[in-house]
Amino acid sequence: MSVRDEIASILAEPLVTRINFSLGGLAITGAGLGRVRNAILHDRIRVVPDPSLPAGAGGSYNATQNQIGVEPSLTQQHLASSIQMRSVLLHECSHALVDLSRAAATTILSDEAAAYLVQLMYRLGRGQSWLRTWASQNQGTPTGRIFHEAIRIIDRFALLQSCAILQLQAYSALRQAIQQHPVYRGTSSTALTRADGI
Ligand SMILES: [Zn+2]
Repeated sequence: MSVRDEIASILAEPLVTRINFSLGGLAITGAGLGRVRNAILHDRIRVVPDPSLPAGAGGSYNATQNQIGVEPSLTQQHLASSIQMRSVLLHECSHALVDLSRAAATTILSDEAAAYLVQLMYRLGRGQSWLRTWASQNQGTPTGRIFHEAIRIIDRFALLQSCAILQLQAYSALRQAIQQHPVYRGTSSTALTRADGI
């Protein structure tokens, strides 16, 4: 199997096919992620090595090229065994879904909020409950704060068990946490997404 096929296999996991929430005009569903899977398998979305990825970023999505970028050193074997890496590439697939949905009226911050929710739902759903403690203890760090706010939403709305429609006030703290992360700093609250995120 290739890295591409391994990403497709993430999107076929039962945990992923059950995802069902919406926010900011975006519907993130297992069915939608299944469309991303089809697009990957038919090379309408291509998986390519991305040498320009910032260290530790793990993945990127380019909406102009319809490409998921992966670290050039990523192997299928590593992706098969790393829940963390799988969650990062699922995050990129969420951006791909927003792009497929042509959700140009969604803000960058809401697009990222949805992607982080999917990323953290995956890790919790795959048994990484320790992330709750880790995120709580690391709220003082940019990534810890994003994870903490995302997990609070997942738990409050029981997103792993049920569907939910999230109103802005339910995820505004997550948007703020994203906005304060160095990667996204300077992103205006109203800037619209081209679904071209990392
Ligand atoms: Zn992102």
